Amino acid sequence: MGVRENLQLVREKVRSAAVRSGRDLEKIKIIAVTKKVEIARMQEVIRQGIVDLGENRVQELTEKRPALPTGLHWHMIGHLQTNKVKYVVGLVDLIHSLDSWGLAEEIHRQAVKLDLVAKVLVQVNISGEKTKYGLAQSDLADFLIALRDLPHISVQGLMTVAPYVENPEEVRPYFRELRLLAARHNLEHLSMGMTNDFEVAVEEGADLLRLGTAIFGPREN
Ligand SMILES: *Cc1c(COP(=O)(O)O)cnc(C)c1O
Repeated sequence: MGVRENLQLVREKVRSAAVRSGRDLEKIKIIAVTKKVEIARMQEVIRQGIVDLGENRVQELTEKRPALPTGLHWHMIGHLQTNKVKYVVGLVDLIHSLDSWGLAEEIHRQAVKLDLVAKVLVQVNISGEKTKYGLAQSDLADFLIALRDLPHISVQGLMTVAPYVENPEEVRPYFRELRLLAARHNLEHLSMGMTNDFEVAVEEGADLLRLGTAIFGPREN
């Protein structure tokens, strides 16, 4: 299937999940994850009305961005190294992957330089898997308090990457936990749900879906 059909199917599934769970479809955004996807196929999803694009590597982001129309919303969704922050702040609308204090300080430093407020999500390692980035859930409250001292960072919500499982029902508790955490801290946005689990994520309150394979097909590694 082509990108167009894939996207149509994704949109239908998102709509059904929203209806099932009584959610407002308007509030749910599909971010097309375009890592390893070439420009021509990115243009195809843009033609289909996608305006949010997610990349997980800084180099790919900075190379592709100038080749595409202005007015798109770019999302940095991957782990960010401190030395690359300067290439990202000001280019992306939202950094989903704030996962350490050092990174926060560097994002703040660059935002001050550019005289802007960097919008971020705090990545939480809800499942506690050793291989996953993100703050431990128990560290979140103190982290958010500390961030108040960095006025050029605006925390918009939380992000998580769920473990890959055969049956997406298994990750429902993690998504629910992230939603409760966000609510406890009055944070609006929830970036959760990937190809394997986005319907469950929608049912649990996700409003930023990060979808690669579901739209573009399998990536070559
Ligand atoms: C690659 C990636 C995605 C998209 O994954 P798919 O399973 O292809 O939808 C989402 N979030 C992050 C952080 C990623 O790196």
